[in-house]
Amino acid sequence: MPDDLMFWWPNKNRVYSVRSGYWLGMRIQPPVVEMGEDQGASIIWRMIWTVEIPPKLSHFLWRASTNILAVRSNLAHRHYVQDPLCELCKEENETVNHALLECGWAKNLWADSVFFPLLSLAPAESFTKRLAWMLQNLDKAARGKFLAMLWAIWYMRNLRVFDSETTQPSVVIVGMTKIVMDYERYRKEVGFQSHKHSVEEARTWTAPPYGCGED
Ligand SMILES: [Zn+2]
Repeated sequence: MPDDLMFWWPNKNRVYSVRSGYWLGMRIQPPVVEMGEDQGASIIWRMIWTVEIPPKLSHFLWRASTNILAVRSNLAHRHYVQDPLCELCKEENETVNHALLECGWAKNLWADSVFFPLLSLAPAESFTKRLAWMLQNLDKAARGKFLAMLWAIWYMRNLRVFDSETTQPSVVIVGMTKIVMDYERYRKEVGFQSHKHSVEEARTWTAPPYGCGED
């Protein structure tokens, strides 16, 4: 746990409810918007490549959306492990959807969050459908916070599985949210226009002639 997260303890008794003040600033945008498959995919890609989130969060989001996150169902598919069962609940196969949204302890965190009313309306059959739907229906300020919570849940899950760590989840969620919001603020302050440019440049970039520029 980075030291600066301690700054985010809200009071001396170190109790920070996910429902407490920090989250009340978030606005969920009604009404619910329906969308097609293509629109769903494009909103995820836009979020990954062009919206003001830290590169590490983009990378996590990309891995989760393309189903290459190291969950046990993927590891079993590649024969790295034999058993795809979730290591925490031992009740269902550990898919991305299960690990981040359906596993009991993660579900409890979501149920205690401001996202719960909207999340319970989202299509639940796949992680990407649910993610796309949420991104579509959250306003800009809430999107980064929703993604920060997904990121925090993945981080905490790994701590629990590999280190038996039981850090208070709300601390990690608030910490990750701070990282996301600080990044956006910093980006605005220095006038950095997100990684959009690098994607556009990458699309139009062509390799130099063989031998050109090589030592
Ligand atoms: Zn589970």
